Amino acid sequence: MAGQGHDHGDGHDHGHGHDHTEPPSDEALRVKALESLLVDKGLLDPAAVDAVIDQYETKIGPRNGARVVARAWADPDFKRRLLENASEAMKEVGVSGLQGEDMVVLENTARVHNLVVCTLCSCYPWPVLGLPPNWYKSAPYRSRVVRDPRGVLDEFGTKLGDGVEVRVWDSNAEIRYLVLPERPAGTEDMDEAALAELVTRDSMIGVAMALSPE
Ligand code: FE
Repeated sequence: MAGQGHDHGDGHDHGHGHDHTEPPSDEALRVKALESLLVDKGLLDPAAVDAVIDQYETKIGPRNGARVVARAWADPDFKRRLLENASEAMKEVGVSGLQGEDMVVLENTARVHNLVVCTLCSCYPWPVLGLPPNWYKSAPYRSRVVRDPRGVLDEFGTKLGDGVEVRVWDSNAEIRYLVLPERPAGTEDMDEAALAELVTRDSMIGVAMALSPE
């Protein structure tokens, strides 16, 4: 894990006086040391480690967020509570774990497309999305998404109409953003579990749309 650069506990605090919620650096270092030892001894396959990390980045981690989004699509009252006070509303679906930060949910509509970044480091709504992908932590994403959000969206294969306003939200140690993607067309008859399958990690960061039902 540490070899992938997940050891973000680097003490950045955005000047707000408290640390990030990612693992502390000594913990990350221990993990890295252990991983190196196991690989050296032939007990651990680095490819297997990468596969586990991929699971947490793209599958297991974002499932909480997907459940939140699916509930919001299916239940207008929940959606209203979610947009008013996300941290509280998420407890209704069993999601908690924030350590003093506020969670804010941003609703994408036909007119407004929200996109999330942490320009200073990699603040991320981990209770709902799990581990951040490497690109989210990369300097090019962090700087370019502010200057040229449409260009970045284009690279993710996300095309927006000219009339759509793009809003970029900068996460920090106090506020973590989650995008509520638009509910795809043709999903009127789907239940929450089926809807959740359409909700990708990238759609909740705002670089992609939710999937269309096949
Ligand atoms: Fe950060």
